[in-house]
Amino acid sequence: MNMDDFNQPQAQAAQWLRTSQRIVAFTGAGISAESGIPTFRDSDGFWREFPPEQFAHWRGLIRTAFTNPVRLAAFVRAVIEPLSVARPNDGHLALRKLEQHRKLIVVTQNIDGLHQTAGNGCVLEVHGSLSEITSLSGKRRRILTTAQIAHITRRLHRIQRRPFALSRLLLAIRPMLGAGLRGMWRPNVVLFGEGLAEPAWSNAVTAVENCDCLLTIGTSGLVYPAAMLPAKAEASGAKVIHIDPTEGGTGLWLRGNAGAVLPPLIHAAFEADINGVN
Ligand code: NAD
Repeated sequence: MNMDDFNQPQAQAAQWLRTSQRIVAFTGAGISAESGIPTFRDSDGFWREFPPEQFAHWRGLIRTAFTNPVRLAAFVRAVIEPLSVARPNDGHLALRKLEQHRKLIVVTQNIDGLHQTAGNGCVLEVHGSLSEITSLSGKRRRILTTAQIAHITRRLHRIQRRPFALSRLLLAIRPMLGAGLRGMWRPNVVLFGEGLAEPAWSNAVTAVENCDCLLTIGTSGLVYPAAMLPAKAEASGAKVIHIDPTEGGTGLWLRGNAGAVLPPLIHAAFEADINGVN
């Protein structure tokens, strides 16, 4: 990229990254949008079809299971199908590159595992992970493989061809409910009204309070308590850079898609001729 194309906020952000030793990337659904996973709140977002009042908490999900299992099956499929085929995009890969230059902790609200697939070594999943199930006590965890998730997707496709009862849905998704394991199990994802995943959340707060620079990427900042992290970083004296197509307030904003903004930013910060950037 020609460094003359770099505007002032981009050059400022590159300089902040270059002069930081401990960086935290705080990511949301937006960083995975270019991998084909819909966000929640954008115009084509998830909540348009599956309103949070019904689908974002256990009470609503259980009620839907009994009153409308066909709709619940559509919801489960809509969540897991894009995740089962998604690959990291240029935004994820740029964060992997950043880790080669600086100590980086990724704090993600996402449940898709794409930061780990991209190769980042320290990823704190504060809203859990779709590729794990947990016992109801939270003490035991098991991995749900991509192959299992793809298999569940195929079963859901199959049963959705005709009307069906709840029992068929439960059968189709049984690996997500710990079939064959002792006790009661559930997907390890944090729903509305639940506490954040631990120890990920406590470690995320510590990381944010001790970083020099926080990058927020693809998050609307509306889901609390995770959304408190940028303010916490600022209060601890860290520089905060926001990357999102929608500008949302004060601070240093780089408007655009993560996959377009991050690679040239990391390149300018660590790989380009520094004199060409400043
Ligand atoms: P959100 O849907 O509230 O907001 C998404 C944000 O991403 C918006 O600000 C939007 O402008 C921005 N965005 C859209 N496309 C982008 C792109 N290409 N590059 C950069 N930014 C882009 O998401 P949220 O703030 O993360 O909160 C919703 C909750 O749902 C979180 O817990 C979230 O992680 C979870 N969720 C996760 C996934 C996933 O695991 N991939 C998908 C949907 C929702």
